[in-house]
Amino acid sequence: TRKPSLEYLNRIGATGGKIPLGLKRKGLRVVVTGGAGFVGSHLVDRLMARGDTVIVVDNFFTGRKENVMHHFSNPNFELIRHDVVEPILLEVDQIYHLACPASPVHYKFNPVKTIKTNVVGTLNMLGLAKRVGARFLLTSTSEVYGDPLQHPQVETYWGNVNPIGVRSCYDEGKRTAETLTMDYHRGANVEVRIARIFNTYGPRMCIDDGRVVSNFVAQALRKEPLTVYGDGKQTRSFQFVSDLVEGLMRLMEGEHVGPFNLGNPGEFTMLELAKVVQETIDPNANIEFRPNTEDDPHKRKPDITKAKELLGWEPKVSLRQGLPLMVKDFRQRVFGDQKEGSS
Ligand code: NAD
Ligand code: UDP
Ligand code: UDP
Repeated sequence: TRKPSLEYLNRIGATGGKIPLGLKRKGLRVVVTGGAGFVGSHLVDRLMARGDTVIVVDNFFTGRKENVMHHFSNPNFELIRHDVVEPILLEVDQIYHLACPASPVHYKFNPVKTIKTNVVGTLNMLGLAKRVGARFLLTSTSEVYGDPLQHPQVETYWGNVNPIGVRSCYDEGKRTAETLTMDYHRGANVEVRIARIFNTYGPRMCIDDGRVVSNFVAQALRKEPLTVYGDGKQTRSFQFVSDLVEGLMRLMEGEHVGPFNLGNPGEFTMLELAKVVQETIDPNANIEFRPNTEDDPHKRKPDITKAKELLGWEPKVSLRQGLPLMVKDFRQRVFGDQKEGSS
């Protein structure tokens, strides 16, 4: 495979300063597609703080300018309204490819568009990486395991995915994106990294994106009943966003292609999650059962042995620690919105 250039190694600090090429670590030029979204905007904050030049490419389908507005006056920051389904020319060192709606409600809204984003969008970003010799990181998903028959999920598990279901635009789309990533790696020597992200929550999530943590928190704050789908015994493992961003950056700077599971192994049923939300916000919040959605995975929990060993990474923030940080942000936005509406 292609060896990273000395200049590149020096820029990311991987030479430990032993190579006298520029005494100070220069900032990288980094593209973050989907950088105006929930995870992307937190990643942008970290990259900007590190002194990188950051270009956000986003079509604002689920992202918001408000998430990155605090960087507008910084000359190292650039925001481009662009749909990754169309080609784009940029000169950069690294590409964090996040562009894709992540909430089931959003990705099912226009499934064909979701597939185009995952397939054509990823192809374009890989073409860009190939042209300029940039390192490319794909944010794949635990959904590539489908309704898993192995528990917890290890990276070597190939998954149990319905190819013709309502979630397929997303999980098959991401599986194809992983395939493209490996084919550009093997065929065109592009330096690639693959993260399989498990359910992540935190400040800046869309309030009404339909995901379970954002739904429960917004419902509890609004004094509405928490909507538990199905019997509420299905499980998920919830990771706080700062842990994910740390994992993504370690993966990008490290030597290993992956795929790597990035998630918090703490597993909760939806009823247990509802209980934690009640304890955190409102012990009197009611629970209302609703019919579940089609093809809902019964359980999901990452095996993170590989990331621990090869990236030296593991999550630090438990659900009970992370939830209050998200609630603070949601409280401001839920009640701030009302003030805006009445003024
Ligand atoms: P998000 O919806 O908040 O962010 C996605 C961003 O991509 C938004 O800013 C959106 O406007 C942008 N976007 C969507 N389609 C685009 C297109 N065609 N062109 C340009 N921009 C486009 O979601 P998120 O939670 O921040 O997820 C970020 C990435 O992480 C996604 O790729 C998602 O699949 C992956 N992921 C997230 C989770 C999670 O729990 N949050 C779990 C697994 C994987
Ligand atoms: N691409 C892009 N920006 C670039 C280079 C390529 O958007 O800087 C797009 C290009 O338009 C193509 C895709 O990436 O649709 C794949 O590019 P590649 O060069 O791998 O394939 P080819 O253009 O030869 O089909
Ligand atoms: N869910 C729920 N109530 C809600 C929203 C979701 O009980 O208001 C359930 C959903 O059926 C699924 C789990 O919570 O079993 C996680 O759903 P989410 O959409 O957050 O993410 P997924 O992991 O399915 O992509």
